[in-house]
Amino acid sequence: MKRCRTGRLACRLIFALFTTIAMAANADLAELRKMAARFAAAPLRVDTSGLSEGDRRALAKLIDAAHAIDDIFLTQLWSGNHALYERLKKDKTDLGRARLGYFWLNKGPWSALDGHTAFLPDVPARKPEGANFYPADMTKQEFEKWVNTLPGTQRTEAQGFFSVIHRRDGKLVAVPYSEEYRPELQRLASLLNEAATTTASASLKRYLTTRAAAFLSNDYYESDVAWMDLDSPLDITIGPYETYNDELFGYKAAFEAYITIRDDAETSKVRFFSERLQEIENNLPIRPEYRNPKIGALAPIRVVNEVIATGDAAHGVRTAAFNLPNDERVVREKGSKRVMLRNVQEAKFNSVLTPIAALVLPASDRKNLSFEWFFTHILAHELTHGIGPHQIRVAGRETTPRKELKELYSAIEEAKADITGLFMLQYMLDRKQLPQAGADAERRLYTSFLASAFRTLRFGLTESHAKGMALQFNYLADRGAFVTNTDGTFHVDFSKIKEAVRSLTADLLTLEAEGDYTRAKKMLDQFSVLRPNLKKALDRLQHLPVDINPDHVTTRQMRN
Ligand code: ZN
Repeated sequence: MKRCRTGRLACRLIFALFTTIAMAANADLAELRKMAARFAAAPLRVDTSGLSEGDRRALAKLIDAAHAIDDIFLTQLWSGNHALYERLKKDKTDLGRARLGYFWLNKGPWSALDGHTAFLPDVPARKPEGANFYPADMTKQEFEKWVNTLPGTQRTEAQGFFSVIHRRDGKLVAVPYSEEYRPELQRLASLLNEAATTTASASLKRYLTTRAAAFLSNDYYESDVAWMDLDSPLDITIGPYETYNDELFGYKAAFEAYITIRDDAETSKVRFFSERLQEIENNLPIRPEYRNPKIGALAPIRVVNEVIATGDAAHGVRTAAFNLPNDERVVREKGSKRVMLRNVQEAKFNSVLTPIAALVLPASDRKNLSFEWFFTHILAHELTHGIGPHQIRVAGRETTPRKELKELYSAIEEAKADITGLFMLQYMLDRKQLPQAGADAERRLYTSFLASAFRTLRFGLTESHAKGMALQFNYLADRGAFVTNTDGTFHVDFSKIKEAVRSLTADLLTLEAEGDYTRAKKMLDQFSVLRPNLKKALDRLQHLPVDINPDHVTTRQMRN
């Protein structure tokens, strides 16, 4: 759920796998190479030929700005980061290079895939929970006690996104980012203002100038609003955003940058689907009174291709999609926007899913593995979160599926979005509503979905998407739609898949409409398990990469 609705961390989980490597704080060359091999080197390219001359010049400035963001992020993650980075760069031995490479992948001396534990000597054994947002010796209790003594506005600032906490003369004090990172932010503001003078796009100009002003004033409201209105070929997200690195309180925003180019073809595909969502809702395979005669407005989805991502957007498992802003005031007034990084998803597809498919699909089916259909299904998944029962009535009470299904809700809702996404695409294929679909569309859609099930199941059944996927897989298998071959690979039975998808869509939506906790529990207990055939298949995938280490080819070419 988080992946799609509340933010970016879980987006990273889409391709994450938490098989940790047992390691010492002082990993040797072989261990470091093994850890780094979990990230497959992946070139990221973007076609910039459609940009105007002015936007091209703006892009060069924005790439410089993105690199400046890395400097701030290194500081934010750990006070010792810059000194360590300089030291690592000087070590030209094989071990030194491996350490530098893995440091840069993680933007610090702790391995994100291994619970943020240290892989270098002479650093804290684990990433400090409060990163470098609070004094290293401050406890949670001390902060809370202090904050409760502060008057309203000071308290808001201390708990706010955009301040760090220092200890001065023994006392805690909040320092705004605009002071703390003054020189870096001044440089960033100039770069953004320079980019603003060369672009012809009014909405980009406005975002860049208001954001430059925010860097210096520490007031981000106006520029967050400008970001919501941003509609330009160059699509930029730059500044302090997510709070995941603050594991102490989740208050403090880390700096990141996504410099991207809008994907017009995919963005219009989203619009095409969005315009047909009410029709899908009206035809959902549930009792008519469970259908919503007027579905609400959805957060807009923008599909882009990444030229470069830096800072918090470029460590550990890479972001495939995000949902911003986080400022609740902006969200209340303007809503939020979902951004999907298409070329990042494609790189993950090539580096992670294709090798999985080679092990779980028979050779004759592999030609049906299709990024186009994989990505189209992700779009359908995101959109179908917005349809189906959301406001329900249980025993005369107005309530929601989330409230009634409690801790089971997110697994059920993720399974619902997957399966209803398939239902929606099948509905459109049956009515020839998808102009780009060829005769092999169904084969490609379902075969790609089957292979991607294994990618999701690798998260482990503690995670909502994986729980939801195990439920779907076993349900479809029991209906004869997913079949295990004698050699341990799998195939789709195309005479059974459509009816099975329809039936599971009906079951999950009805369960949500009725807020039926007991039946949700029964369904998850029965289906959300790793049966021996799945377990065996997953064991064979263990050595495969988990995520990508992007090489931003376009950026390098522009700098040469
Ligand atoms: Zn989802």
